[in-house]
Amino acid sequence: MGIRDLLDPAVDLAAIIDVVPNAIVMVDREGRIVLVNSQAESLFGYARNELLGEPVEMLVPFALRGAHPHHRAAFERSPKSRPMGAGRDLYGLRKDGSAIPLEIGLSPIRTESGIYFVSAIVDLTERKRLEARFRATVESAPTAMVMIDQAGTIVLANAELTALFGYTRDELLGRKIEILVPNRFRHAHPGLRTQYFGERVARRMGEGRDLFGIRKDGTEFPVEIGLNPIGTDEGMFVLGAIVDLTERTHQAQALRAANEALEHSNIELQRFAYVASHDLQSPMRTIAGFVELLGSRYGEQLDAQARDWIQRAVHATKHLQAMVRDLLEYSRVDANPRPFVRVALDEVFDETVAMLRAAIDESRATVVREGNLPVVEGDRSQLAQLLLNLVGNAIKYHGEEPPRVSMSGGKVDGEWRFAVADNGIGIDPRSHEKIFEIFRRLHTKEYPGTGIGLAAARRIVQCHGGRIWVESAPGRGSTFYFTLKSDPEGGQLGHGIHA
Ligand code: ADP
Repeated sequence: MGIRDLLDPAVDLAAIIDVVPNAIVMVDREGRIVLVNSQAESLFGYARNELLGEPVEMLVPFALRGAHPHHRAAFERSPKSRPMGAGRDLYGLRKDGSAIPLEIGLSPIRTESGIYFVSAIVDLTERKRLEARFRATVESAPTAMVMIDQAGTIVLANAELTALFGYTRDELLGRKIEILVPNRFRHAHPGLRTQYFGERVARRMGEGRDLFGIRKDGTEFPVEIGLNPIGTDEGMFVLGAIVDLTERTHQAQALRAANEALEHSNIELQRFAYVASHDLQSPMRTIAGFVELLGSRYGEQLDAQARDWIQRAVHATKHLQAMVRDLLEYSRVDANPRPFVRVALDEVFDETVAMLRAAIDESRATVVREGNLPVVEGDRSQLAQLLLNLVGNAIKYHGEEPPRVSMSGGKVDGEWRFAVADNGIGIDPRSHEKIFEIFRRLHTKEYPGTGIGLAAARRIVQCHGGRIWVESAPGRGSTFYFTLKSDPEGGQLGHGIHA
């Protein structure tokens, strides 16, 4: 039975094979071409009548031609449909002498008049071109890149990758990707890899885990890996981009070490300031005491000049004492941190007013709180110091009018916010930041002080996770604001705890 007998004689076989997308070439058992379609004509550049009856070897490049009849014979002995030259790159020869990369599917067809072989031929030129472009892109990438197939076999590795891991390309191609994974992660890797092939989305590998690579010499290094699924005619592949984090890790470590050193020296400095100001207090008291004694006991016997000098000495020692006291207060903020407790600010406020009684009476000040102040979490003595400094300043820096000072506080945007407002001399906006620096004073002559109070206030607020700032203008009074952290439970504290 001839091949035409299989079909309705009305069907034109040539017309059918002309509509399939592949080039088709059929040969008889002698290897002579008996049928071609028009795709084959245009693929090889021959007209049909130039091909029919000719040996198929005319389409095979010279270099491969000698072995071709042998391959044909071998196929005839076990003629199963299969891709021709599986595992090898195949080429066809065009009439103009150029070679074209091909993929050929080979099927035997038995008929009464003998066996025929049908080749379905795909032109791989475009695919090869794209593949070459892809390889060139990967090769020139400034990042180490490796591509694996579904089985985890390395099919592509760029120069950066070989340099990073210390292997040659030949040592990597065809090996499992696990060769680059440290031993202790190796057993889990194939599972994760298979799972990723199911996901098919670009993402970072091992989100939240520290990843490591291992070099040929056995050294490990931290890495970050980006994964990209790549679908091709030949199935799914995964392209991995690997970034060496060694440098970054070193930098982070150096930064951490520097920060620790800084913190350490800060603590040392605070301890020193604390101890020094503590130790200075008693000799200061002694000096102040003796100079005062000198003035009161021998003042009568001395002339006006000497009395003035003693006056100045007393003044200077008083200032120095205040300085040492304030410095001690300042360094205590960091040197003596105490566990946070519930602090009723109403109580603290009332105590502050009591402590400032003399100054209040002297300046005929009114000091009030607007409504109730909340109960907050904090270091009680630090918060007392904070109110003392702010309310004290509000009384001290008054103008012609007797001072009016009010404090208020409440929840704003999930945190506690407080305000201490006065009707005093006010502060030029250009100095609003500076006044919180240590030893920074604006009114040196007219008002006594050490320039430490607001610096201490800021440290205290910072230690409580808050901020402090001022709104003020000269002659318009000042309002100092500060915030304190309020944890969700702390939010209830001010209103009592509900069962
Ligand atoms: P001191 O009061 O000892 O000078 P502070 O650190 O408490 O130091 O204040 C720094 C400076 O800020 C003060 O010298 C003063 O000029 C200014 N200042 C502080 N509080 C007020 C206020 N309520 N009104 C006007 N000026 C103020």
